[in-house]
This record gives sequence, structure tokens and C-alpha cells, in this order.
Amino acid sequence: MTSTRILVTGGAGFIGSHYVRTLLGPDGPADVTVTVLDKLTYAGNPANLDPVRGSGRFRFVRGDICDAELVDALVAEHDEVVHFAAESHVDRSIQGAAEFVRTNVAGTQTLLDAALRHAPDVFVHISTDEVYGSIPSGSWPETDPLQPNSPYSAAKASSDLIALAYHRTHGLDVRVTRSSNNYGHHQFPEKVVPLFITNLLDGEKVPLYGDGGNVRDWLHIDDHVQGVELVRTAGRAGEVYNIGGGTELSNKELTDLLLTACDAGWDSVEYVTDRKGHDRRYSVDCTKIGVELGYRPRKDFATGLAETVQWYRDHRHWWEPLKQRGGI
Ligand code: NAD
Repeated sequence: MTSTRILVTGGAGFIGSHYVRTLLGPDGPADVTVTVLDKLTYAGNPANLDPVRGSGRFRFVRGDICDAELVDALVAEHDEVVHFAAESHVDRSIQGAAEFVRTNVAGTQTLLDAALRHAPDVFVHISTDEVYGSIPSGSWPETDPLQPNSPYSAAKASSDLIALAYHRTHGLDVRVTRSSNNYGHHQFPEKVVPLFITNLLDGEKVPLYGDGGNVRDWLHIDDHVQGVELVRTAGRAGEVYNIGGGTELSNKELTDLLLTACDAGWDSVEYVTDRKGHDRRYSVDCTKIGVELGYRPRKDFATGLAETVQWYRDHRHWWEPLKQRGGI
């Protein structure tokens, strides 16, 4: 049997590592090999890949997606690229945007240029719903214009459009996914769900931005991985697919659920000055991926959240050093 050789960038991070563990796990396709290319920034954690390290179908390369020579050599050896690598935290992009433009924009262009030379069969670019901006009501279809507001989402929108331009201009098989807010195990504890859980498990307060009224759609990583895999295997070249979880919550509602799950009360909440330019609401219309590829979110939010809290309870050894090192 010939294997499909997949290059996964950012595969030591939260979503990328789950994608790789799933591909190489018992329910994954048997006919793939995976190379992870990851720089191991503060967000990349080799331990996330421990479950697959012994697999003969897995290889890890530490490196930067902006390193044109390395990227060229790796893309040449692979049939498909699934591109997760990015600077991913909005708050950090507000403190300084340089790394966001370098990795998210220039890094993506470096990968696409290598793809032009070596013509992989598929290039999946992982984008985000944040590229659309903010929407007071209703949901964005994929055809809506991109109106990003934060330096993070602007850098992601740039890479998203460059990726699509390489399809339209050069005919490269590029497929773009735009997903909503992910939650689940192995998420770096700077993001709201693991930050709140780990603070509460430590008996510390949690910082709630502004009036807590910002609304997000929550997507379990299993469902995100399901969506990405459908797009990789059955999506169409040059197409964009929204991926959502179907659970819209204000930050206040999310906080309430997390407090309950961690046996804490509202006295553990500290209202803090709102994030600059904080988008009020995100909401993706997932009709296209549902109708075309049969996607539907399977993980019920209450179950997913309870499992996530339990995972952080059971894995202090995973997150405590990250919090100490990251000064979170
Ligand atoms: P993450 O921050 O957990 O992981 C990012 C990974 O990329 C890390 O392993 C890091 O080491 C690696 N990386 C960063 N810069 C690199 C570089 N220059 N070269 C090579 N590797 C580099 O991020 P995540 O939450 O897993 O997000 C993965 C992707 O999904 C990103 O593209 C992000 O924009 C997108 N996304 C995330 C969410 C979410 O809720 N987390 C939602 C929608 C889309």
C-alpha cells in the first residue's frame, strides 16, 4: 500500500498535535505518514507528540516555516501539506505584531512558494473565523468579506488571502478552513478556557474582560480535526470551509460554566479592562461543509467541557511548568 506523506506544520501546538495524534491513532487512516515541522515556540510542546513518537509513520523536524531552504526540502518530500503553524494569541499580537506578520504571513508565503515548485496534491491552510471581523447578529457564510480587527486576525486574513491567491493565480490545490474558538485538552494555558480552569484549580481569580458580553462559538478540537480531515480528503481546490461547534456563549456564560465545573463562585472573578479592539461576536455559518462534506459537530459542549476540566485536573504536570515558564 502506498502511503500519503503529509507535512503538518505547527504539529506540536494545541490543534496540530491533536490532528497528528488522531491521524496516527487507532481510528486514523492507515495509509498516511506524518512529518511535523515545528519551531517549538513557547506554544509548541514536544510532549504533545509523545503518544505518536514511537510510530514508524511519524517524524519530527524542529524548524521555522520561514526557513526557505528547509521548507523547500520538506515540501519536496511530501504529497500533502496541512498548515497549522502560526502565532495564535490575540493578546500577544496587541503587545507586538512583528512575529505575527513574520510567521503567519511570510511563513505561509514561504510554504506556498515551496508548494509551487513541488506541486503537492493538497495544501490545507488553517485559518480562523476571526478573519471576518465581528458580527452583531446572524452568521458569516464563506463568501463574506474579510474585515479583521486585531493584528492576529489581520495576519491570519493576509495568509488566508495569499493562500487563495496561489490557487487562483497558479492553480495550486489550496483549501482553506476557518474555524471558530477551539477548546479541549492540551491547550496552552494562556487561552481563556485553560487559563480559567487552571487558575480556579489553583484557587486563584480569573480575569473577565470588559462586561463579559463578548460572544464566541465553541468548537471541540475533536470536531475541528474532523472538519480539517474532511477538507483534506474530500474538499475542493480553491474553496473555503467554515467549521463551527454550534455552541454560542458570552464570556460571562462560559465563565459561569467553568466556575461550576471547578467548584468556584463568582467571588473568584475579577473584571478587568477590556482587551483593546475586542471583537464583540463571532459566528460562522457551517452549511457548506455540512452539505458538501457531511460535517457536523459531534461533541456536546457540556460533555466536552467536563472532559476538558477533568483533563486539566489530571495533568498538572503538563500545565504547571508552562504557566511558570510563561509567567501566566
Ligand atoms: P498554538 O499556538 O497552540 O500552536 C502553534 C504551533 O505553531 C506551535 O507548536 C508553535 O511552536 C508553532 N509555530 C509557531 N511559529 C512557528 C514557525 N515560525 N515555524 C514553525 N512552527 C511555528 O496554536 P493552535 O491554537 O493550535 O492553532 C493552530 C492553528 O489554528 C493556527 O493557525 C491558528 O490560527 C488556527 N486557529 C486556532 C483556533 C483556536 O481556537 N486555537 C481557532 C481557529 C483557528
